[in-house]
Amino acid sequence: MTEICALASGSNGNCYYIGNENSAILIDIGIYYKRLIERLNEAGLNKNKIKAIFISHEHSDHIQGARVTSKKLGIPVFYTKKTYRKCYDKNKADNFGFFEPGTPYKIDNIKIHSFKKNHDAADPCSFRIEINGKNIGVMTDIGETNETLHQELSECDAVFLEANYDEDMLMNGLYPYYLKQRVSSSKGHLSNLQAKELIENYASQKLKTLFFSHISAVNNTHDIVKQTFSHLYKKYKILLTSRQEASEIIRL
Ligand SMILES: [Zn+2]
Ligand SMILES: [Zn+2]
Repeated sequence: MTEICALASGSNGNCYYIGNENSAILIDIGIYYKRLIERLNEAGLNKNKIKAIFISHEHSDHIQGARVTSKKLGIPVFYTKKTYRKCYDKNKADNFGFFEPGTPYKIDNIKIHSFKKNHDAADPCSFRIEINGKNIGVMTDIGETNETLHQELSECDAVFLEANYDEDMLMNGLYPYYLKQRVSSSKGHLSNLQAKELIENYASQKLKTLFFSHISAVNNTHDIVKQTFSHLYKKYKILLTSRQEASEIIRL
């Protein structure tokens, strides 16, 4: 059995749990240790199953709990070399390793596939986790999609997919011009419509569960996301992740 859960998702902290009966990994640790433990307890997940953490990129909302969590749980944090070099010292775990985008890595029976994405960071990656015969995508912080992403998405049974902003809210909102440009650029984030297009064009029959993730608190609302994807609620189990609480656990 595979268990997946968004422990936190949004611009103030991201952390995704993927595990089976014996082992689990976290993708990103953008929340502090204390909060992580609260969220694991809330969800009913066991911290002792977590064997490693993989980091998607060096932005603080993906990494700020790395150092302490690694120490407290006694587990390694894996970065790409370029990401590690770009991290502030406070976000570098003492117990660490490197992964190479495109080269699969194994932790117990969990296989971690990583691939490069377009985002304004040193060496940003998305992931597909192969576990108990299922494939789980973690695909957030993406400015522009590419063929690799399309291919990887088509392998997924479940996906944490970014639906960061509503285009009208972003353009008419309070963000300064340079930030509007940054968010909507090819190195920024996926809009609701970009996420919709991805699902409609590249998801395969295998895909059953969608966690819309990294939803902006300023440039999006859960109601707009629900409206955008209302036509898909019959076809998929859809969850909206939150910065405030852990999501429901989905068992595959
Ligand atoms: Zn982020
Ligand atoms: Zn980022």
